[in-house]
Amino acid sequence: MPQSRKHPLARLDPRKPLVFSTLDLGRSPGSIHSQTATVPAPPLVHAGLAGVPEGSDVGLDLRMAAVSEGVLVTAAARAQVTGECARCLEPVRQQVDVRFQELFAYPADDGPADAEGYALQGDLLDLEPALHDALVLALPLAPLCREDCPGLCVECGAQLAVVGPEHGHDPAIDPRWASLQQAAPGLAGSERDGSDENGNGQREPSAGGAAGPGGSAAIPDE
Ligand SMILES: [Zn+2]
Ligand SMILES: [Zn+2]
Repeated sequence: MPQSRKHPLARLDPRKPLVFSTLDLGRSPGSIHSQTATVPAPPLVHAGLAGVPEGSDVGLDLRMAAVSEGVLVTAAARAQVTGECARCLEPVRQQVDVRFQELFAYPADDGPADAEGYALQGDLLDLEPALHDALVLALPLAPLCREDCPGLCVECGAQLAVVGPEHGHDPAIDPRWASLQQAAPGLAGSERDGSDENGNGQREPSAGGAAGPGGSAAIPDE
């Protein structure tokens, strides 16, 4: 993608859909040229769970303005983002609108003056790297199928939007918990032995005393 930044002298193919000519614009500062276009989405517009499929339609509104250093491009792009819901993994499809502005500098006679920025190649400019970067930055980090997506059941993975709010698991009959108990039958017994050594006669009187007043207090009320 960034080859047009690193190698500004590479030849641009004017037939590529994201290569635009500034011939009509001219170089008189203040001259403005606007155009709209539908272009194919550049490759690798993808981040996390969302992306813009390569080649899908991107609506572009372009405004090119000649300034003293080059051509200032102001662009608005509209693309369809596809992905997976971050909570339930269902397919997500949503529209993303981005605006960006880049200066494409006039080529310097003694080589590229600014290797970091974009540069015109003759009368042509390649909008693909700038469009790619703007779209990637606009991708949703955690796309949702709907704002209040309840996600998946942490116990069984069922979609809570499908199985309903009553869906739940009784811990007493959870089959996985039952198998754990069967796998380690001696665990509860050894814990009980340890507490007997530590308690050693001090705990039992206090436990009995707590139960006694509680029981006797309940009876007079009735
Ligand atoms: Zn969802
Ligand atoms: Zn469940």
